[in-house]
Amino acid sequence: DAKSAGRNTFRFFAPILQVSLDEQARLENDLREAVRRQELLLYFQPIVDEAGNTICAEALVRWRHPERGLLGPAEFIPVAEKSGLILGIGQWVMEQACDQLASWSLAGHALRVAVNVSARQFRQDDFVDQVLHALRRNRVDPRHLKLELTESILLHDVDEVIAKMAVLKAHGICFALDDFGTGCSSLSYLQRLPFDQLKIDKSFVHDMLGSQNAATIVCAIIGLAASLGMDVVAEGVESEQQREFLATSGCDQYQGYLIGKPMTAEQLALRWLPELDSRPQ
Ligand code: C2E
Ligand code: MG
Ligand code: MG
Ligand code: MG
Repeated sequence: DAKSAGRNTFRFFAPILQVSLDEQARLENDLREAVRRQELLLYFQPIVDEAGNTICAEALVRWRHPERGLLGPAEFIPVAEKSGLILGIGQWVMEQACDQLASWSLAGHALRVAVNVSARQFRQDDFVDQVLHALRRNRVDPRHLKLELTESILLHDVDEVIAKMAVLKAHGICFALDDFGTGCSSLSYLQRLPFDQLKIDKSFVHDMLGSQNAATIVCAIIGLAASLGMDVVAEGVESEQQREFLATSGCDQYQGYLIGKPMTAEQLALRWLPELDSRPQ
């Protein structure tokens, strides 16, 4: 009956909850050491224009965990955010992304690198200096760096966000609003915030061919971006039909498994960047 089922459910769930709390604490401890032990690494996912040229690579952090293998951000970014470890990790990502950008630039590749920045990271008083120092240390042209922010940035002082963006933009850095459409920000902020791009969240791209509502949202985002003078990037493009629908609807750039999965910098250079042999010296 319902009562015994309830008891069983309780007995079943209580130990799992316990394990997950222990695991969380252990994860946090491991993560604390991960940067120092050089267990973090960056994967890069190509972003292409209408013609299929790779114009950007998004840096996506991974953790080579000594026991659990390669972990994606979903498994440790939430713990990193809660514990504050995201600040150190974020700085490491910025440094590594600039280092990679410098190598690609030296080799003659003109692509951008996009770096995900968490709200907590962006809110640091010295965030602007951190970014500018990372660029200078690695002798990177700021115009090749793109920062991806999510709508969660808008839950705090918007004027401060705008001021920081303005300084970074004056140096040539560009900004994308990531996972657009999934947050709860007011559209009125969009006209005040100097974003260069909107990234359509992959959930809409995933659903748009089977759901009239998702298709309508995708088209509305593209129209909104166009009228605000921003480019649109679709993420999570997995099929040719999706790419065609997006192209017909006026999307500017594409990212997803159809084009290429996240991969090492070496793999990206080998298969997604033009050969430079004929380049004049
Ligand atoms: P995001 O910035 O929206 O990145 C796109 C995510 O979608 C990546 O997941 C990517 O692997 C995945 N993806 C790309 N194309 C496809 C596709 O065609 N199909 C499907 N199903 N998925 C696709 P990933 O690498 O697991 O990263 C998840 C999120 O973690 C990122 O979402 C970003 O919010 C966060 N993240 C990643 N790296 C960093 C970082 O260095 N710092 C911070 N703060 N967050 C990061
Ligand atoms: Mg992103
Ligand atoms: Mg995204
Ligand atoms: Mg996303």
